[in-house]
Amino acid sequence: MLPDKDGPGVGGGQVCPDGEEPSVSLFREYLRLRTVHPQPDYDGALQFLDRIAEELELPMKKIEVCPGKIVSIMTWEGTNPNLKSILLNSHTDVVPVYQEQWKYDAFSAFKDAEGNIYARGTQDMKCVTIQYIQAVRRLKAEGRKLMRTVHLMFVPDEEVGGREGMETFVEHPEFQRLNIGFALDEGLANPGEAFTVFYGERNPWWITIHCPGSPGHGSRFVENTAAEKLRQIINSFMDFREKEKHRLNTSECLTLGDVTTVNMTMVKGGVAYNVIPAEMDVSFDLRIPPTVNLQEFEKQIQQWCKEAGEGITYEFAQKHMNQNITSTKENDPWWSTFSSTCKAMNMTLEREIFPAATDSRFIRAVGIPAIGFSPMNRTPILLHDHNEYLNEQVFLRGIGVYERLIPALACVPAFPDEA
Ligand SMILES: [Zn+2]
Repeated sequence: MLPDKDGPGVGGGQVCPDGEEPSVSLFREYLRLRTVHPQPDYDGALQFLDRIAEELELPMKKIEVCPGKIVSIMTWEGTNPNLKSILLNSHTDVVPVYQEQWKYDAFSAFKDAEGNIYARGTQDMKCVTIQYIQAVRRLKAEGRKLMRTVHLMFVPDEEVGGREGMETFVEHPEFQRLNIGFALDEGLANPGEAFTVFYGERNPWWITIHCPGSPGHGSRFVENTAAEKLRQIINSFMDFREKEKHRLNTSECLTLGDVTTVNMTMVKGGVAYNVIPAEMDVSFDLRIPPTVNLQEFEKQIQQWCKEAGEGITYEFAQKHMNQNITSTKENDPWWSTFSSTCKAMNMTLEREIFPAATDSRFIRAVGIPAIGFSPMNRTPILLHDHNEYLNEQVFLRGIGVYERLIPALACVPAFPDEA
């Protein structure tokens, strides 16, 4: 079931001259900003956010976390600002497009007759940014006062790994000063009636295996070649891949986030047709769910290397080890507030491990509970895809969802250690 119809629009129910809901117009305006890699229009985004902060009458802080990478934070102070705060996080950047594959200009925010808005970022995640903003705007217009402080944070570089944004910022004194108790960040669309929420993420491991071997002339049966070892390594990883794929496909209750994915992404080696090379390398992208014992898993990789022959070594380009997950137990005050508020709006939630990576992993790594949630049901998952779109009605209902969630979370009673 969809949540209740959203309430009044910007400034209380006015409609633009062309009949479009002001929230939709604002969303489309934001979508037209080309905050696209490799050269996102950060200035455009900052100017936009400055204007919003002024309209909402909220102070805005800008912190240059790395050169040219600014994290902006609008703060709505609570009636008890000493309590832990609520973070509403979103990233301003979007991934590139293959324009020739799109039906419409990916930065025109074209709206078709069904109300589907086409643009890069409609799902990931400019929708959520505007939904947070419009929900706060309505709550303020109603004169609501919330107990806990609410921070709206806008980070610049989630789509290129977050290293110069959230990953660095969580270690910054300004981040600690925010005193965050609970965070909301991006999720994924759900094609059905339910809404998906994410309470953890898989750990990415990017590994290269070096297979040395005896060189020689291509006309002979040389023993102990790099290629033989490479073949063994590939077999071990690919056999494991098949097992995990089978496990996913034969179990009703598993989703992609619950299994380890393995993909061979690069192979290097060789100089000429008739020269047996002294080394061949193969690289894999592994995504490991938080339920896997990472030490045991690395031992397994070592075993595969040992079995494949002498002298094989490996190195990691990325090796994430943090397995913090956010509690979804009914006795957890944040989760029970989140889930009961959704339930009161007749929303069905599906809890999952996020199959890829978002900035939430950095928030969880410093011990802050975070839920990945983008309120989009009845919507195909099109993030990073051609013709990414979101229907305006789904978008508008999402504002109503946050209009209920934000005050509920900001009114979670003080914990004993907060008094
Ligand atoms: Zn995203």
